[in-house]
Amino acid sequence: MIKFEQAFKKVISRAKVLGTENISVDEAIGSVLAEDIVSKYALPPFNKSVMDGYAVRYDDLKYIPVKLKCIDIIQAGRVCKKTVNKGECIKIMTGSLLPKGADSVVMVENTEADNKNKGLIKIFKKVDYGENVCLKGENIKKGCIVLKKGTLIRGPEISIISALGMSIVRVYRKPTIAVLSTGDEIIEPGKNLIYGKIYNSNGHMLLSLFEEMGIKAQYLGIVKDEEKKLKKAVMRGLKNDILLISGGVSMGDYDLVPGILKKCGVKKVFHKVRMKPGKPLFFGVKNNGLVFGIPGNPVPTYLIYSIFIKPVVDKLMGKKVCLNVAGGILKKDYRRNPGRKHFVPALYTNDGSVYPVESYHGSSDIFALTKANGFMVMPASAGFIRKGQKVEFLFW
Ligand code: AMP
Ligand code: MG
Repeated sequence: MIKFEQAFKKVISRAKVLGTENISVDEAIGSVLAEDIVSKYALPPFNKSVMDGYAVRYDDLKYIPVKLKCIDIIQAGRVCKKTVNKGECIKIMTGSLLPKGADSVVMVENTEADNKNKGLIKIFKKVDYGENVCLKGENIKKGCIVLKKGTLIRGPEISIISALGMSIVRVYRKPTIAVLSTGDEIIEPGKNLIYGKIYNSNGHMLLSLFEEMGIKAQYLGIVKDEEKKLKKAVMRGLKNDILLISGGVSMGDYDLVPGILKKCGVKKVFHKVRMKPGKPLFFGVKNNGLVFGIPGNPVPTYLIYSIFIKPVVDKLMGKKVCLNVAGGILKKDYRRNPGRKHFVPALYTNDGSVYPVESYHGSSDIFALTKANGFMVMPASAGFIRKGQKVEFLFW
């Protein structure tokens, strides 16, 4: 049985960044850029007003108040052919192209229309030269690298790529993933509960977690612990970059998954990790495909997703791999049997306190996870940790 740290290394080293693809910018959030984004245009592409007001010549505002003759109105998106000459101004809207002759904009709030002389505008506050004008290229010059290859695309990146007029970007491909639930006792939510059976929670949790990462995983449904059926489903699942099989990897008479994976040509990298929960974890490879056999209980399923599967998906799609770990102060004595690295559902509060979930009943206690925001991590050697001691905390 290998240590968690070794298992993590083995898994991550087998995950190789996938190829690249062109996708619509509207689908690119959460992906990683596989190309530098170079500005084809300057931003803004023209000198523009950033206020509603009057385009003026700075030299005309030496003595305040002053009355200027308004010779036109410019709506955003329109090109005004007139020039602002000495003693003149043009009414201008935010986002409009600054007319010729003008160099500054006075906010409308600092002006007043002259009631007696139609067309005259009284300006009663000075501006600095160029005030309220954003010059062409002030934000981004034409021809420079705006976003580097390897950048994670978030909202602001989508905005800038769109602002540069691009509708397609080159990104690292997201992996294809198949999820298979196994077990004669498992039935789908929505059906009537039969005595002795339980509902499939893992399958739906995993599918949703991938959905959250922008990946529509293939759901292979629930397959009974029967060799022929399992083999058929596994062969289908192996067509993906990642195959996840929930259940059937422990020591029971009907835990058939490792044997079937072998028959299907999956090479075992490890089976069983010195960690709690999640000890029976199986990891194997077939060509470039990665296969996880996950013990069926929901707590290890979520743990294994958090510490193995999500990092692997991140790496495949070009993201940085990191576990979100922090130090905290344990607020209650915690005792357990040493021997395996232990992940305990716990709550980390703003002041850095760590509270293990009260009355946690172990691997099947998914309810405990709903009261937690991560796992307190206890080293394999630790049997007792006293209140007030520093502990490692792994955020989800
Ligand atoms: P196994 O890994 O197949 O030995 O299953 C371990 C425990 O997890 C058993 O109590 C199963 O009933 C339960 N289990 C297996 N698959 C699921 C699932 N998809 N959803 C919820 N619990 C499951
Ligand atoms: Mg089972």
